Amino acid sequence: MKKLELHWQILIGMVLGLLFGFGMTYTDWGKEFVTDWISPLGTIFIKLLKLIAIPLILASLIKGISDLKDISKFRNIGLRTIVIYIGTTTVAIVLGLVLVNVMQPGDGISEETIDKLTSTYVNDSGVTSKMEEASRQKESGPLSFLEDMVPDNAFAALGNNQLMLQVIFFTIFMGISMLLIGEEKAKPLKRIFDSLNDVVLKMVDLIMLIAPVAVFALLASVVVSSSDPEILLALLKYAGVVILGLLLMIVFYCILVSVYAKKNPLWFLKQLSPAQLLAFSTSSSAATLPVTMERVEEHIGVDKEVSSFVLPVGATINMDGTSLYQGVAAVFIAQALSFDLPLSAQLTIVLTALLASIGTAAVPGAGMVMLVIVLESVGFPADKYAIGLALIFAVDRPLDMFRTVINITGDATVSMVVAKSVGKLGKPHVRNWDDHLDEVK
Ligand code: ASP
Repeated sequence: MKKLELHWQILIGMVLGLLFGFGMTYTDWGKEFVTDWISPLGTIFIKLLKLIAIPLILASLIKGISDLKDISKFRNIGLRTIVIYIGTTTVAIVLGLVLVNVMQPGDGISEETIDKLTSTYVNDSGVTSKMEEASRQKESGPLSFLEDMVPDNAFAALGNNQLMLQVIFFTIFMGISMLLIGEEKAKPLKRIFDSLNDVVLKMVDLIMLIAPVAVFALLASVVVSSSDPEILLALLKYAGVVILGLLLMIVFYCILVSVYAKKNPLWFLKQLSPAQLLAFSTSSSAATLPVTMERVEEHIGVDKEVSSFVLPVGATINMDGTSLYQGVAAVFIAQALSFDLPLSAQLTIVLTALLASIGTAAVPGAGMVMLVIVLESVGFPADKYAIGLALIFAVDRPLDMFRTVINITGDATVSMVVAKSVGKLGKPHVRNWDDHLDEVK
């Protein structure tokens, strides 16, 4: 019998997880049961993916750079990547702002709903922790992101998943130095990293074997810990605007894929779908990164020289979904609390949301932290930040799931565009987890 394709397996896991989660909310013991016995499966899966993220970045970036044989090529890829990332993020923010201004989701919110949301969430630990995190981030100076990018201890950087940009910096530095010592001398080290790269990609294949069960667990946990459906309903229009914007971003990516990369966009989405489904289930671009890399290289055909740089950098600095959400959320909060936002303030939002999305960590809920900084940039009264966050907190998790899908789809699209522009978009070469199983049996 033909085996069901991976994306179908994952999708079935997700649907069953949703149904199971809903079912459990009708019992007195369901929430506890899911938290104690089901959630750990999802947590283990996310841990496994994060476990291999740093070795994968290290091995694949070194392989990518040392295969280039020419530093000017790297500069070329680097520059294009950053420029295109800024371009797609700007499109996302402007799109979000246009939609929220045209559809005005915040205007119809009654005083009663605002009071209800505020009283439910203003002192919620989720909101207060995000406020604290935002004030920590605010204290840093304008060039601090450059400062933060340079590690002073390579092993400390490699030992911390939050320091992905430092790992990228160290790895690029090392890769370039390997090019400069000449092929002969760099050969032993290169072979080690080439082999490490193959091993880690195999680990991705093996981890993906449990993906359908893991997404079941992840979605069941999200459902049992989600908010009161009545509150969700009040925010339906706002959530609808964010989701509409995110869907339009998919259309934008499809246009780029078809017009520029000359590939069928439906084929592109199908090849990427397992990574998108995982992004949805985990709400973390960083945890999804190993799978995104595997899909883009093996199933879409982007050369490692491009993907090994574009994707890890994208996971940390390119967040189109998050920046679109920040634009919509900031204006929605202003509309709901009758705070006037003239055109100049909205232009400020474009700039700050762009910078905020670069500074947003690729983990669940990080986008909401940076929203405080966006609100601050337009002069929103500081005593109302908490009320603003409380207004949108109830739907943050589901929206986070959707925006993370867009974040990784944007990264994959840009990697295709950059690859096409430097002649590195080739044929896919799919490897299965059991390709060499006979040899070890
Ligand atoms: N969860 C998002 C990501 O990892 C970041 C955010 O928007 O909160 O891509």
